[in-house]
Amino acid sequence: LAMRLKATAAEVIKKLMGLGVFATVNDVIDFDTASLVAMEFHAKVEKEVVVTIEEQIIDDSEDEDDNLVPRAPVVVVMGHVDHGKTSLLDAIRHANVTATEAGGITQHIGAYQVKLGDREVTFLDTPGHAAFTTMRARGAQVTDIAVLVVAADDGIMPQTVEAIHHAKAASVSIIVAINKMDKPGANPQHVMEQLTEYDLVPEEWGGDTPCIPVSALKKTGIKDLLEMIILVADMKELKANPDRAAKGTVIEARLDKGRGPIATMLVQNGTLHTGDILVAGTTVGRVRAMTDANGKKIDSAGPSVPVEITGLDDVPTGGDIFNAVSDERLARELVEQRRNALKEERFNARTKVTLDNLFDQMKQGDMKELQIIVKADVQGSVEAVRQSLEKLSNDEVRVNVIHGGVGAISESDVMLATASNAIIVGFNVRPDPVAEENAKRDGVDVRLYRIIYDCIDEIESAMKGMLAPKY
Ligand code: GDP
Repeated sequence: LAMRLKATAAEVIKKLMGLGVFATVNDVIDFDTASLVAMEFHAKVEKEVVVTIEEQIIDDSEDEDDNLVPRAPVVVVMGHVDHGKTSLLDAIRHANVTATEAGGITQHIGAYQVKLGDREVTFLDTPGHAAFTTMRARGAQVTDIAVLVVAADDGIMPQTVEAIHHAKAASVSIIVAINKMDKPGANPQHVMEQLTEYDLVPEEWGGDTPCIPVSALKKTGIKDLLEMIILVADMKELKANPDRAAKGTVIEARLDKGRGPIATMLVQNGTLHTGDILVAGTTVGRVRAMTDANGKKIDSAGPSVPVEITGLDDVPTGGDIFNAVSDERLARELVEQRRNALKEERFNARTKVTLDNLFDQMKQGDMKELQIIVKADVQGSVEAVRQSLEKLSNDEVRVNVIHGGVGAISESDVMLATASNAIIVGFNVRPDPVAEENAKRDGVDVRLYRIIYDCIDEIESAMKGMLAPKY
């Protein structure tokens, strides 16, 4: 402010004191105070308002209660492999199709809607929580309800537990579908007992977790499950405003040789029309053609309706948020800005910490903490490594094990490492293929060892800048 007023800092501070504001050069003062000071210096004051392109073209205003109408719940199906997620999604889809339509279902677009009486339910058609987590990591909040599939003859398995944690982290309501009830070994009581260990107390036992016995194979219990979904949805009072510009999330997208980029989008608020100008992540375009999940051409889609659209310039990424906007020129400018920001982000990603650059980063004073994720084949090793590594902390850098666990290095370990600028060390475990690919892409340093001593030695050397170069 002093500079703009062609005064010294001391003069400005003195004027501020005169106004009863005791500030130093490091303090921030608000516009009103600054303009009072400026007037003392006989300067002309004008408030500069910086409006970003996003603010200009994307309507982010709150909806008035009066404009809100109920919308269909959006449901994801999660659970352990082979417990019947795909079968259940198929059973639900087909239970709802009349014989004449049945032949018409040829494609899966990543989401579909089913009817129950006059109500509708939207299902995301990608089973498993990987897609769900990726979307959430990208900031997309898409699902309202998770159906947790547990095979009645198998009970809760590791991926069931993961799914529970993911659903809870996203605060979505959980409905348990106890599947494979037709099997002779089905033991739903046992499943319910196991659920209580994860704070999911069945409704029958006075808790608030609905548990519905089903058989995806024999198609029994499907209607009960749908009814329960509607009931839970009603309690959540899900609403949206169909009378505004559409906003939602890209569920999946691909490039079609003939038709160009094709994206499945879930409209979450507003109504999407053919001809609308869209911004989706770093892509832009105009909705050329729109079809529903049954492949039928439609001209508009309201809240909770999944649609497939063509007309984007480029293939967006699953989890990208899209907005219908009014100004195509500004939309293109916005996308350009986002692309540049992304490039910069990627460039910065290249300066991720690795054992090879650790010492340089420490010298530059950029590294005060070395974050490490430890994965091992047995819990004992995880603990031993954690303790030895944390003891390596010195005056310059603190060694911090932010996560430790048993099992292969997974996609979510890499995601955590990326987010926290951590390196990953593995003992007698390897990264799974997806984790390996992502680590390479994101520049996450993954080091594999058989002997704890080797790891300690290597990290200690790296901290001293004496790591032997790798050939
Ligand atoms: P996902 O890996 O969770 O998607 O499981 P799938 O839907 O692929 O099912 C795994 C296996 O379990 C397949 O062989 C299915 O036929 C079978 N399966 C799924 N649901 C049922 C069921 O209700 N009863 C029986 N007996 N088998 C089922």
